[in-house]
Amino acid sequence: MDQATDLGYLLHKHPDRVQRFEQSFGTAHVFYPDAGERRCTAALLLDVDPVKLVRTRGRGTPDFSLGQYVNDRPYAASSLLASAMANVFRTAMRGRCNLRPELAESAIPLEIVLPALPCRGGPGQAERFFAPLGWDVSAVPVPLDPEFAEWGDSRYVTLTLTGTLRLADALNQLYVLLPVLDDAKHYWLAPDEVDKLIRAGEGWLAAHPDRGAITRRYLANRRGLVRTALGRLADAEDAPEEELDPVQVEEEPAPSEDSEQAEKAVSLAEHRLQAVVHALRDENARRVIDLGCGSGKLLARLLKDDFFSEISGTDVSHRALSHAWRRLRWDDRPRRENDRVRDVFQGALTYADERFGGYEAAVLMEVIEHIDPPRLGAVERVVFGHAAPRVVIVTTPNAEHNVRYEGLAPGAMRHSDHRFEWTRAEFRAWADRVAAAHGYRVRHVPVGDDDPEVGAPTQMGVFTR
Ligand code: SAH
Repeated sequence: MDQATDLGYLLHKHPDRVQRFEQSFGTAHVFYPDAGERRCTAALLLDVDPVKLVRTRGRGTPDFSLGQYVNDRPYAASSLLASAMANVFRTAMRGRCNLRPELAESAIPLEIVLPALPCRGGPGQAERFFAPLGWDVSAVPVPLDPEFAEWGDSRYVTLTLTGTLRLADALNQLYVLLPVLDDAKHYWLAPDEVDKLIRAGEGWLAAHPDRGAITRRYLANRRGLVRTALGRLADAEDAPEEELDPVQVEEEPAPSEDSEQAEKAVSLAEHRLQAVVHALRDENARRVIDLGCGSGKLLARLLKDDFFSEISGTDVSHRALSHAWRRLRWDDRPRRENDRVRDVFQGALTYADERFGGYEAAVLMEVIEHIDPPRLGAVERVVFGHAAPRVVIVTTPNAEHNVRYEGLAPGAMRHSDHRFEWTRAEFRAWADRVAAAHGYRVRHVPVGDDDPEVGAPTQMGVFTR
């Protein structure tokens, strides 16, 4: 493997050139101090222009220091470096590399050095935020003045991260955690800040043990925004691109300073699980298949409840299934005749499959909104026409409720993988048509806080025939 060209491909910056990128607050330079076959170093140098900074960001800011021509920003790795990174390495951060797609997907050996990182909470804080992501962390305090040891340390550390990760993940983690460690962000909170956090946090933030603290700091403690972000993180847990540890998902978040928000955040996912279990019991359906089971939260719940006698799950995503298998200890389960878990297998809902049949109920919990509209007809035929269990339960977001999520841009969806989100009327129209076409009746149940104006956050249809 040729390290130099590989890193060049991934960053979309040629190793032989020095390139500059104008920012509103200065100039970013990218160059390669070392581009060998065994090791390659790409440097991002941000030359902050204090005058430009005062003019673009300093005006009207509550942060006094930013309105001054002399501050630490030109020297410290702060949110300015993060935003320059997002600008200069935009494609790399999305994990795209058309010429070498397999390289963008691979974890590669990385070392990242930040000579002067403002670090509130001290070196231990950097360790707490980066170590759970798989980094070896060295955070060495920078002395105030090496000539005068008695002055002690500054609030800056030299941070070195070593690990084997996808470059895109590493860049996204830095993008979020640099301003979080600096924790001086109150002056540039844009309205789409929650979206940025969710996007950059994809695949690592939902499962981070400190996701509450990170989210709170990133959003400068704005309660409404923090609540929305934690809610969306909890919601996104099962999306196929999320990497998470099922053990952590099982646990309710530890009560902490953000317990109020965390409680809100878990409660919608929890409400949904309870609503589905309730409906299954109401319909006296003991043999259940979970279609699009994701990481297997519902399967685990059904397994805990003796009412359910036969439980299966399927998903198209191998990554999601590997979490489900681990959660259910599928691999080291002794296969017994009377095992209540019948099968957890990979399958696509767009193709008729014998294995979907033979159950009293099928559940599609937060699945249909992940299906491209032109393929939804196929899923309808497979589920209601072919498998055709006595009961089908479908849950999906209620788009009308989105206005209650502070920080969700108007018209935006709750998760980047959603292909659509329906209003209550749209869901009803779909459900009525599908029920009529396949000989089912359907009743509608709101799930979560039923807002008098915009309805509940989740809508559920219980189909019976
Ligand atoms: N039901 C789970 C997961 C919801 S996320 C829960 O509520 O917690 C949506 C899931 O649908 C993802 O795991 C995704 O992989 C799966 N999915 C999307 N399209 C699918 C398809 N065509 N066939 C099977 N599963 C699909």
